[in-house]
Amino acid sequence: MIGAAFRSLIYLMTLSLLGLCASTVNAAPSALLIDNNFDQLEQFQMSYFVDKSGDMPISQVQNQRFTDSSNSINLGAEAKTTWAKIALKNTSDTPITLYLHNSYAYYNRAIELNEVVNGQVTRTRLLDMDIKDTQESMYQGTAVFDITLAPQQVTTLYLKNLAYIYQVFSLELYSQDASKRVLINQNNDITLIVGMILALIIYNFFLFLSSRLKEHLFYACYLVSGGFWIALSYGLFASFFDVFGSITLKWNIALGTMPICLLIFMINIFETRTKYPTEHKALLTVIAILATNSIYGLFDIIKALEYASTLAFIVLSISLCVTISMFVRKHPLALLFLIGHSLFITFSVLAVLFYQGRIGFSYISSHGVGIGILLESLVLSLIIANRIRALETLKASQAELQLLASTDPLTKLLNRRSFALEANQLLRQDKQIRHPLSLAILDIDFFKNINDTYGHGLGDRVIVRVADVLRQQCRHQDIVARYGGEEFVILMPNTSIEKAHVLAERIRKVLENATIHVDQQQLVNFTLSVGIAEVDPTTADLQAAIEQADKALYKAKNNGRNQSQLFVG
Ligand code: GH3
Ligand code: MG
Ligand code: MG
Repeated sequence: MIGAAFRSLIYLMTLSLLGLCASTVNAAPSALLIDNNFDQLEQFQMSYFVDKSGDMPISQVQNQRFTDSSNSINLGAEAKTTWAKIALKNTSDTPITLYLHNSYAYYNRAIELNEVVNGQVTRTRLLDMDIKDTQESMYQGTAVFDITLAPQQVTTLYLKNLAYIYQVFSLELYSQDASKRVLINQNNDITLIVGMILALIIYNFFLFLSSRLKEHLFYACYLVSGGFWIALSYGLFASFFDVFGSITLKWNIALGTMPICLLIFMINIFETRTKYPTEHKALLTVIAILATNSIYGLFDIIKALEYASTLAFIVLSISLCVTISMFVRKHPLALLFLIGHSLFITFSVLAVLFYQGRIGFSYISSHGVGIGILLESLVLSLIIANRIRALETLKASQAELQLLASTDPLTKLLNRRSFALEANQLLRQDKQIRHPLSLAILDIDFFKNINDTYGHGLGDRVIVRVADVLRQQCRHQDIVARYGGEEFVILMPNTSIEKAHVLAERIRKVLENATIHVDQQQLVNFTLSVGIAEVDPTTADLQAAIEQADKALYKAKNNGRNQSQLFVG
């Protein structure tokens, strides 16, 4: 399926390129035959003549040598005034009315249609995109002219097309029904493309609001300017809002802002400012050139757009070089970007060649920039997804590192350092509340003997068991840590020394009854001693409380171990 699509793409591109040499044959086309069954002619032979002077009268134009062509014309910036000639013959015995469509009318400055019978002009209509009174033939961006042919009559249409910059237009002939049908369905594809882009814009804007990741914003800006230009350039604004002519010409500035947004997006995702200074400078230079041209466009949009096609080659070459450089340096997002950007470049080059009149008229060549923007924006959304995934992995590994740094690997309790951090934080909060706080230090009795008799491995298991019991018995607000080898500490907020004593005794008794299997037959019991002190709420001095609890622990050890002792000052 993808292979077939790719083959047809190649086929269409080849056709576009072949169009380069299509318009040189010169033989007067015979009249198009129209009868009562006429429905539509969307592809036919006509001929054109470029009026370099720009103001040749129709009487003179009729005597000029016309060049054969298809019914779609793209002749670049050097053919601003171009005449198309179509001969029609009504072969029936009744009059026939048909409709000539110029579907790129919104793109041009003015259109003049002359009907000539036997060398005499019988009807002339002028459509100026800037003069409202002349626009009765304008229907949703398409110029629609009705032409009535008398029985057996030959009428020659001379259509003068005045372009702003690039000479692009396409003529079609329809019956009344076919004309209505076509007008209703026109722009469906562009509406779909712009709709997709709009959805991506909204989605990325919301993503930016929630994540504050700037790439979403730059991507949304790229889509806004690209989508806007597509809607403008492919007739959607003309079709929906009836805006065309010199009012909309200036809006083409969006074509310049689109690559600026793309380059800023590149700077952001590749982090060129900090990581790749040479590439960064190259991208900034291109942005400066584009920005200058866009500002120039505010004063002379026609010249700016003419420069834009040359600038496009420079911009695309530099951005491609930077992408290749990222790829060579093995940047993880470079391959995707290279694919997206190559698609954009391929179609943009086709479009530039099309506007310059160097390749023929086809759907792909005439919609190159739009297709390029759409394909690239889809690939860029993949890049954004990849980058979010990479950032999340980074965040998760940072959280893991932090956990590793703050916990003891054997028991997974807090280590001494993070105990001090958390305890001090708690003390700072509690200092204001002035609730009593207590601290207990627990030390396994004769642990050295356990190690010496049963080995270090079993000693470790005893330590892990103590940690597990502490986790079960302590409340969620208590801060529990492994303080040293076989020493543990508990800071109990909002707990008097008497209550802390109760808790310590409970833990001591649970562990007194705990057993560790040496092997199938042999079990080991162990005990621990506890020293408890109350933290002075006025000073909230952790170190002092630890020293006091240590003293109480010493007392417990001296008193015969396996007991809890309170510090009394
Ligand atoms: P008491 O506290 O009752 O006075 O006697 P004790 O034998 O427990 O005394 P001491 O605190 O001096 O002994 C602690 C021993 O704990 C010494 C050290 O080898 C051992 N130890 C420290 N860390 C670990 C550990 O992670 N695993 C094991 N298996 N042993 C450890
Ligand atoms: Mg000890
Ligand atoms: Mg000990």
